Amino acid sequence: MVFMNNLIKNSVNKLKAYTPGEQVLDKDIIKLNTNENPYLPSPDVQDILSMIDISRLSKYPDPNCIELRRVIADLHNCNIDEIFIGNGSDEILALSLRAFLERDESVGFFEPSYSLYPILANIEELRSIPIQLDSSFNWDGKYDKSIKLLFLANPNAPTGISLSEDKVINLLKNYTGLLIIDEAYADFSDYNLISLIKNYSNVIITRTLSKSYSLAGIRCGYCVGDKVLIDALYKIKDSYNVDYITQEIARVAILDQGTMNANVQAIKETKTILYNQLLEFGFNVFPSNTNFLWFKPSGISAKNLYKLLKEKNIVIRYFENSIFTKDFLRVTIGTAPQIFKLIDSIKEIISGDFTNDKS
Ligand SMILES: *Cc1c(COP(=O)(O)O)cnc(C)c1O
Repeated sequence: MVFMNNLIKNSVNKLKAYTPGEQVLDKDIIKLNTNENPYLPSPDVQDILSMIDISRLSKYPDPNCIELRRVIADLHNCNIDEIFIGNGSDEILALSLRAFLERDESVGFFEPSYSLYPILANIEELRSIPIQLDSSFNWDGKYDKSIKLLFLANPNAPTGISLSEDKVINLLKNYTGLLIIDEAYADFSDYNLISLIKNYSNVIITRTLSKSYSLAGIRCGYCVGDKVLIDALYKIKDSYNVDYITQEIARVAILDQGTMNANVQAIKETKTILYNQLLEFGFNVFPSNTNFLWFKPSGISAKNLYKLLKEKNIVIRYFENSIFTKDFLRVTIGTAPQIFKLIDSIKEIISGDFTNDKS
């Protein structure tokens, strides 16, 4: 008899898989749990889709994504050979650990931050070194010197808080490992750190089309960094990691900065409305450079508020598995009508008799 677990790698047997936010497709449900963009992507995406010749689909896509990289190089004023394209930026994070670290070397990341980082480290049998943030989710600047690769989500998720450029530059003064700045939300922020790659060869910046470009469904992300590091990623990737349709859609979407910026602007305005309203409810809301808000409700537990909103068909995100996050909630900024519905629902909940913890 075969013991099935013996067929599986030890690190995978032990692995606690990443839990993505629920993907509810029911139209009656207001989905504010996975930081997707509520607005349509560039209309040029519709056009390119209707122009795609299906005979092209029998051929493999460009393994090097040259046309797409040209557009990104223009956008960031860098060279094509400083850009790598991934099947979502998640793929780039995973490839980085495989390309840059020996087994048992150390991966650093903030606690709390993107919960995928430690899981990727576990898969690759790397050491995880969490850097604890303080109770306001700020960093005191200290880190373990054995960290060889540091994932820095900036702005951070799930908190929405950014580190200042000064703090990052200060880190880079002494740090000799690789710094991967995950800028998934940079388009929603007042600033980004992409220019650091001009001066620091140990920095890689990752970006995604999933949030600001409203294209989570095509799975496309990219990173910018020193050519030597980018070459290493190209060496180990799957030959055709980004499909033809995705390359085409991503290219026209990035060319249309106007649509992306207008959607970002609308989201920021709605965010301000919700931010002020949550403050008015007496909740502890954190300043956000992203398309979501991170807050601690008062008068009701995070868990109860999450559950009661769900009963009202509004799904937000509750991370109950960590002591650092279990008292907080994260809500994605949807359309203005969705956010007004959310506000009304919270009002109903906190003025009702639902507030005693009966979990
Ligand atoms: C959404 C998100 C990603 C994932 O981006 P994809 O391109 O969809 O894989 C990466 N990092 C952070 C911090 C995110 O919030």
